[in-house]
Amino acid sequence: MIRQLIRTLLPERQRIALLMMKLRLRSLTLRGKGVTCNCCGRSFRKFLPYGNIPRANALCPWCHSLERTRVLMIFLERETRVFEPGTRILHFAPEAPILRRIKRSARPGDYVAADLNPALGEAVIDMTRIPLPDASFDYLLCSHVLGHIPHEARAIDEMYRVLKTGGQALVMTDMDLNNPQTLEDQSVTTPAERLARYGERDLVRLHGRDFATRLSRPGITIEEIDYARQLTPEERQIMSTGNGERELIFRCTRIQP
Ligand SMILES: [Zn+2]
Repeated sequence: MIRQLIRTLLPERQRIALLMMKLRLRSLTLRGKGVTCNCCGRSFRKFLPYGNIPRANALCPWCHSLERTRVLMIFLERETRVFEPGTRILHFAPEAPILRRIKRSARPGDYVAADLNPALGEAVIDMTRIPLPDASFDYLLCSHVLGHIPHEARAIDEMYRVLKTGGQALVMTDMDLNNPQTLEDQSVTTPAERLARYGERDLVRLHGRDFATRLSRPGITIEEIDYARQLTPEERQIMSTGNGERELIFRCTRIQP
């Protein structure tokens, strides 16, 4: 009942802030040095469980990073120019710790944090109709978005349209690594059915091993990067970097105008 009352009375942004505060209080019970979040720099005995089928040691109670957020953050730091001033970045469904980190280095106007939900992004943008010029970004970040978009192919076209030549779209998604083909069933329409088939209430497909093929377009190279595997075993353990079902990075580089 209290949860319902909060939902009715508080705008979404304040509900998120409240949830964040609650988790930070909970972090007091997790004091320890078992894990360290590379997104906020804080250490805990362990991370919190997270997911519809809860995964142990997943969610940072301080900054809300998940395994995939931590893998992406370290990849961005070590392998990209995302945190260099002057780099132009379009970020879909921005993860709060990555958004904050980019904002520390980006020049005004060079970073667009976009979401369909105004409580989650700074610009309301539909990824299938991006209202921005061709070839205007060096990087596009799109983690765990494409599985939720009914017109996925149009979103991928739009993503590449706004990339400069030499620019990179870094894409992550939920994957069933054992399925060669993406699972997409038009008869599945309700949140309960989606949860049962795809593992999340608002996914419209569960990507399979064909994800790189789905991302392919002329003039674009695709690399599948299991970046957690390039870290040391100690780094993987201390950051809790997941099992690869959500953390693979697809680097899509525009090599032709
Ligand atoms: Zn954190």
